[in-house]
Amino acid sequence: MLDVALLSVLLVAIAIGYGLGYRQALRRRHRTHPPAASSQGLSRDYFVGLNYLLNEQPDEAINTFINVLAVNSDTVHTHIALGKLFRARGEADKAVSIHQNLLARPALSQHTNEQIQLELARDFMALGVHDRAQRLLNTLLEHSGDDDHRYAAKQLLVDLLEREKAWQQALDVIQPLLKQYPKMRRPAAHWLCELALEEISEASRPLAKKHLKKALQLDEKCVRATLMLAELEMDNGHYARAIERLDNIPGQEIAHIPTMLPALKHAYMRNNDDTGYEAHLYRLLELAPYTSTIIALGQLVHQRDGVDKAIELIGERLRAVPSLGGLDYLIDLYIESQRLSGKPSPDTRLLLLKHHTDALLLNRTRHRCQRCGFASDALQWQCPSCRFWGTIKPVIGVEGE
Ligand SMILES: [Zn+2]
Repeated sequence: MLDVALLSVLLVAIAIGYGLGYRQALRRRHRTHPPAASSQGLSRDYFVGLNYLLNEQPDEAINTFINVLAVNSDTVHTHIALGKLFRARGEADKAVSIHQNLLARPALSQHTNEQIQLELARDFMALGVHDRAQRLLNTLLEHSGDDDHRYAAKQLLVDLLEREKAWQQALDVIQPLLKQYPKMRRPAAHWLCELALEEISEASRPLAKKHLKKALQLDEKCVRATLMLAELEMDNGHYARAIERLDNIPGQEIAHIPTMLPALKHAYMRNNDDTGYEAHLYRLLELAPYTSTIIALGQLVHQRDGVDKAIELIGERLRAVPSLGGLDYLIDLYIESQRLSGKPSPDTRLLLLKHHTDALLLNRTRHRCQRCGFASDALQWQCPSCRFWGTIKPVIGVEGE
């Protein structure tokens, strides 16, 4: 597909270049000689390229066409577009040579020169040569007076620093831009969470807490910062404060209720407060009837009032909101109930059903990126596919929550 795009760009560019060149040649001839029958044609290389194309050798065709296409003010943007296409199809080294070749031309305007430098920085990033990309971007930021180019350079620099996990440097670059570009608040909040994680691993909890509070100032909907703050409170034995923190999560992002449940259970259990936990779970169920919350409630009732009460509760909840996970848990409860009633082995039909629900649950997607659809078993705060922060959430529906 990209080969077709590349070849189309090249063929159109060559045709335009040829047309312009032919017109200029005609004008020159009018000035110096009387009109004569023109026998000017396309260069030999053009036909060699076409031959490669007809022989289904697109790479050779592309290389030959590039050689035909001379760099001048009419074709410089075609060369830039070609470089982009090479990079997009994974041949960033070719993109580098095209863009470096362009930069060697002395007649380029400042604007075009900066555009090419940005492209070259992207090529180096694609090749993983981050130090060269960083040097180019810093030079551009020092010398460019064009606001659009400066913003593009800062965005690339931030992307690069993020890939290098240089969170503080990324924050330093983005901080002055947050007012103008509020959508950068979310990634900045996550970088602060990353810094907090580093502080926690170095046993510097007060600093971690400071980063997390700042993250919430930048993005009040940052579930990750709230969750981490609650965990810090629990580490210090402040379970009631942890519960208070966790109570904010449904308001930040309702789909993350299942994400917070293990921490919520831990806080209430360490506080010896079953009644509070049960009331909290009922409150969460009123907000959203997620399977994880129903199962958490079932586990509490099972432990406290016995398996039959749990079966009654789960059966009733599942009638209202059916789900695969809930059904699987209900089958577990039935098997447990039969074991307790003294049956030597559980009903084979139950075991068969359990076999099916286990297999279905094994293949389900638990988390999905809301932006690009990337599926992931565990929750990841940055999508590995589209690289957006905070877009992966628990899957809701019969197979999910
Ligand atoms: Zn994504």
